[in-house]
Parts: sequence; C-alpha cells; structure tokens
Amino acid sequence: MLTRRDFLVVSSASLAASGLPLAAGQPSARPWYETMRRCGQLNLNEMDAASLDVASWIDYWSSLKLDALLLNGGGIVAFYPTVVPYHHRSDFLGSRDLFGELATATKSRGMRLVARMDCNYAYGDALAAHPEWFERNRDGSPRPHNESPWLFKTCMFSAYFSEQMPAIYREIGERYPVDGFFTNGWPSTGDLTVCHCVNCERIYRDLVGGTPPDQVDATSAIYRKYYDVYMARVLEVWRQWQAVVTEKRPDSVYVGNLGGGIRTVKNVKQLGEVARWFNADHQGRSGDTPIWDCAAQGRVARPVMDGRTITNVTGAYSNSRVTWRHVAKSPAETTMWMAQTTASGMVPWFHWLGGAPQDTRWKEVGRSFFTWLAAHEPHFRNRRSMADVAVLYPQRTIAFYRSGTRPGSWRGAERGQTSEYLQGMYYALIDGRVLFDFVHEDDLSADALSPYRLLIVPNAAYLPDEACTRIREFTRRGGSLVATFETSRYGDWGDARSDFALADLFGVSVAGGLVGPSANSYMRIVDRHAMLAGFEGTGLVPGPETRVSVRAAGGSSDAVPLTVVPSFPAFPPEMVFPRTPRTDEPAVVVRQAGRSRIAYFPGDIDRTFWRSGNTDLGQVLQNAVRWTLGDAPERVKVEGDGVVEAFAWETEPGYALHLLNYTNPNMTRGFIKRFYPIGAQRVELAIAPGRTIRAVRALRAGRDLPFTQRGVRVRFELPGVTDYEVAAMT
Ligand SMILES: [Zn+2]
Repeated sequence: MLTRRDFLVVSSASLAASGLPLAAGQPSARPWYETMRRCGQLNLNEMDAASLDVASWIDYWSSLKLDALLLNGGGIVAFYPTVVPYHHRSDFLGSRDLFGELATATKSRGMRLVARMDCNYAYGDALAAHPEWFERNRDGSPRPHNESPWLFKTCMFSAYFSEQMPAIYREIGERYPVDGFFTNGWPSTGDLTVCHCVNCERIYRDLVGGTPPDQVDATSAIYRKYYDVYMARVLEVWRQWQAVVTEKRPDSVYVGNLGGGIRTVKNVKQLGEVARWFNADHQGRSGDTPIWDCAAQGRVARPVMDGRTITNVTGAYSNSRVTWRHVAKSPAETTMWMAQTTASGMVPWFHWLGGAPQDTRWKEVGRSFFTWLAAHEPHFRNRRSMADVAVLYPQRTIAFYRSGTRPGSWRGAERGQTSEYLQGMYYALIDGRVLFDFVHEDDLSADALSPYRLLIVPNAAYLPDEACTRIREFTRRGGSLVATFETSRYGDWGDARSDFALADLFGVSVAGGLVGPSANSYMRIVDRHAMLAGFEGTGLVPGPETRVSVRAAGGSSDAVPLTVVPSFPAFPPEMVFPRTPRTDEPAVVVRQAGRSRIAYFPGDIDRTFWRSGNTDLGQVLQNAVRWTLGDAPERVKVEGDGVVEAFAWETEPGYALHLLNYTNPNMTRGFIKRFYPIGAQRVELAIAPGRTIRAVRALRAGRDLPFTQRGVRVRFELPGVTDYEVAAMT
C-alpha cells in the first residue's frame, strides 16, 4: 500500500530521475538545504577578526566537500561593519569586513553560506538603552552571563527578538550572499526559562494568570498555561524569522538550535512543524552518557521531520564533563559520533571553535570521514526506514513525569530519571539486535504506524487520550504492543486517571498505588511460556524496583507467566528469605487477539534494567519483543558477535544496512580511545517484491560481498566491522 508520505517521496524522486526540467513550485524543486549531505562550521571568537587567515580556512572546509559552511555573522559580536544600533562590532575588526571576506571566499568555492548568529546575549550599552530587551530576576536585576559577565541575557518575549534580530538579519541578507541563518543556543529543547522583565510580567498577568514556577511542575495550572504560551512564542518567533530571511531570497532558511539527545522538555513535534531544517546541537557526550546518544538523537528528530533535513553537530573539540574548547577529542570518539549521525539518517555538521588553533589533529578526522561520505553520497540518500518495530517517544513523560504516589517523589537532581525507561528499553533493543524507529506520541496515525508490526511503549505514563485511541486502533489492525509500568496511567499533564486508559489492552486494572522502589523483589516463573525461553535453569528472575499494583482482568486469551514475589530483606543474610513466596499478582500479562500480541509489564523493568545492568531483565524484554513480533520472519536480521546498533534504509539507489560497532570498554563512559573490531555479521533482509539486487558492497571496507537472493530475501555476510560499516545493495 502506498501511503501519503511514500507518494510524496516517490513522486519527487521519480520526477528528479526523469531528467525533465522542473518548474518552480513543483514538489521536486526542493530548496538547497533539503538535499544537503555535509556541512561544517568554524566558530570564531571576537579576536579572530584581527588575524583570521581566510584563504587557508576556506581551503580546509572545501577539502571536506561541504555543501554548506557556517560562519559567524553577528548577534553578540558582529564580524562585519554593522550599522544596526547596539549591535556590537568586534573590538578587533578595525577596518576589516571579515564576514564579507569569508562570504566571498565561501561562495567562490561553491559552498552555501549560513550565517551563524547568537540572539541570547548583548552588551551593557544595549541594556542601558533598551532595558526592556533583557531578562530579569525577581528583584529586577538583569542576568549577566556566568563566565562573561559583561554580557546580559536577552528575553525572547521582547523586541530584541521581534525587532533587533530581524534588523540584523536584514542587514546581513542585503549585504552578503547568505543562504541561511542559524541561531546558536535558541530555542533549545531543554527547560523553559522564567523571566521577570516588564514584557513577561505583563504576559503572566494577562495570558498565564500568575507567575510560573521556576522549575518544571506540570501539577501547576500556571506552569501548564505558561508552557503553551512559551511554545506559542517560540513558534511565532521561528515563523517570523523564517519570513524575514526569505524576503530577499526565497530559498533561504532560518535554522534554530535543537537537540540534546532523548531528554527534551519542549515539544519536538511542535518544533518540527515550523523547522524547515532541524539542527540537533548534540555535539558529543560527557560523563556516563552511552555512546549511542547521537543515534538516539537521530531517532528523536526523524519522526517529527518526516523526511526533511536533520543535521547533528559533532564538536571536534573536547566537550566532555570537563570541557576544553581548544583541544580535540579522540579521533575514535569523533568518528563514531559522525558515524551515528549518518547511520541514523542525519547530516553531519563538523564543528571547530577558534580561528587560530594550536591543535590541528581534528582536521584530518573530519576530512577523512567527509571525503568517504562524499564518495558514496547516493547511498546516504534515504527514502524510508526498513525497521518493523516502533518505539513510542514519550515526550510528555520525559518532560513532566513526577510520580505523585511514589514516596519522596523525585525532583531536581533526579529529573534525568524520566528518560531511564526509554534508555533501558533502547539498550535492550540494541543488545538484542532489534531494528527500530522512534515514533512521536503526537503522531500515531495509521499512516505513521503503517510500516510497523510492533509498537513498544516504555512507560509513557503521561499519555494523551488521542494517543491512547491511536494505539488501540493499531492493535485492532493487527499491530502488536509491548508496554511497561505506568503507561497511560495519567493524562497529558499528569492528572491521574481512575485506571490505565489502555487497561483493556493490558488485561489489568490498577489495584493500588506504586510499590517501591525496593530491591530484592522477584518475578516467579509460573508458566513456561514461549516468552521465557532461556530461563529453564531458574524459577525466579529479578523483579523491577518499582511496580504498579494491578489486578488481572483474567481474559480468556490472557496468560500470566510471571507473578510478583514481593521484596524481602536483603540484609543481614539471616533475614534473607521470602515472607510471601507466592502471589497471584501478575508481573507480566501476555495475550493474543488474531495477529496482535500484547505484553504488559506492571513493573519498571526497563528502568531497572538500565540502573542494574542485570542481563536477565534485558533478556526478558528481548523475549517479549520476539514473542509479540510473532512467527513471521523479521524484516532485517543481523547475527554475529559484538554490541552493534543497526539501521536499514531504502535508499535512492537501493538499500543500505548501517552497522555501528559499540563493542568497546568506553561504550557507556566516554571517550572511545580505539576500536575493537568484531567478526563476521550474517545479514538477512526482505526487500520490495520485484526488486533484484545486483551488487552488495561494503562501503567502509571498500569491497564487494557475495550474496544470495531468494524471492524478496537477500542474504550476505559482512566479514567484520571495525568502527562502522555500510552495506550498500544496488
Ligand atoms: Zn522577559
């Protein structure tokens, strides 16, 4: 069946392939940024204006075969002789027009130029002349930058955003051949800010009905209202800036700054509706962030952009928990971040900071990866994912979740926990070599879910009615479901429902509050269900740290292969025996209706897996996924040793399987120092009926691979993977 989005993709691609001239306004007359595959950024400091060697920099960026280069225009500091009042000209600019020199040089090498702007801070002279442009604390004081206190934070509700920034865009657009504008640091996907300037105080009084709390608090009616007002302002500014930058050049674009991995507060679906180009500013990892955080970023952005351009910035400098701006991070870490960018369907944006580097080790790292990409560009032009498993991205739960019934409900430092359910499921899926996509909870239409056989819902506790309805429809069409913990227990903003909205699908009802968090509880195997393959040697498996107390509905097709053994003391050893060894309380309910199979876990098994690393919990999740997928063969199967994350795409020339080798002592704590090659990977995948594969080529290894095709199923073996491999099928 051809879906709406398939039709759009196919029709524009076949028009382009026909070689016929394209009239303006036809869908295939796509703006330049929609077909961009490589971009780079040199981020200048104020002093660079004095001595930047333009020619050698443009030589370098050109050698990366970039489609677009981002260079500093203005905002905090103008790198050209601006006449816009209070637009601070670089103190080191002298009579030079650095941005003009850079623009001429960039365009002469056939690269698009995007002006990098910053709308977030301005100098004291602007503060004195326009006090209403700036954010204020409760006591009315302005907000200086913590490291550069001569700069002050501007307010997005002020005319700085609706008048000053547009004046700067217009000045740059009139003087220089720029193809787009990018704002650093705005709007971001993180927390909302709460400001007490005159504009904001008026908005709180007239639109919000009170001053919003400083922290995320979806229990507050004022926070809820402020969230909507805040998002509306972000979208209004974004649309205004897009309109301003296209006044002179219709194919110009405004690019906001988004991204940061799977933890978002601002609704990415809404941001995706205004973004022509989604830039994920997720430049690297720090601390205990797992290596896959960049691929996860691609998964978050893709469903909200529906085939439109997503870039991800790779910081070549060392942006770790302790940050160094002027030295490079390890080449292996940088390369793996760029590899995740392209594997997950994003466009890499290679970033260095400072025009006079004393560390130039990063240059060849970027050049090597980008020239390899350029040599194989058609294989990175994706049409659609081949995954048949979808994972619901629980936007509201990640943003707002606060369990009202948990003792000492978490706040502040524990906020990162809202993404641990998704993170645990993610780890189980890549460890189990399941290929999957994310879908956004605000787009679960039949169209969006049509490619998938299974929807996995990792604790979408705050789930709108509309999403619940769509999930129910998906199962009625034969789709399968795995869900955990408090999924659908609350509405959009966290108001408790009397029961799970999806109780009818789960086969349980809420019987009480949350139990836990507590260690040393178990799941007892009471039925050797197919879902428990591999656990023949044990009668117990580890239990989740917290569970919803539930009562089984006892439907005729329902099975309860695991029951709860409540927590009992773990210390001292004399006391370690179960007080209640057996209960009827389900630890999982599995059921089947036609093709649809459902597994519901009342415990936070995904989060407990992530926190404990207990391999049994990962295995239970993987088994649940395999059982709910049913007996039909997986669309894409990759077997072999190693921890890999896999993506498979239908591409313009055929198909491409991407394998990222995470087998590394630094998988869950950066940085990767070197790669540990893995051996043979056996691949089997199903292509479209009627297609014949003529060649399979490993693009990193640079060699053709033997393969077989029987009907729609193609099989081959990759001899090994060092860092990243792409098997291109044509
Ligand atoms: Zn304000």
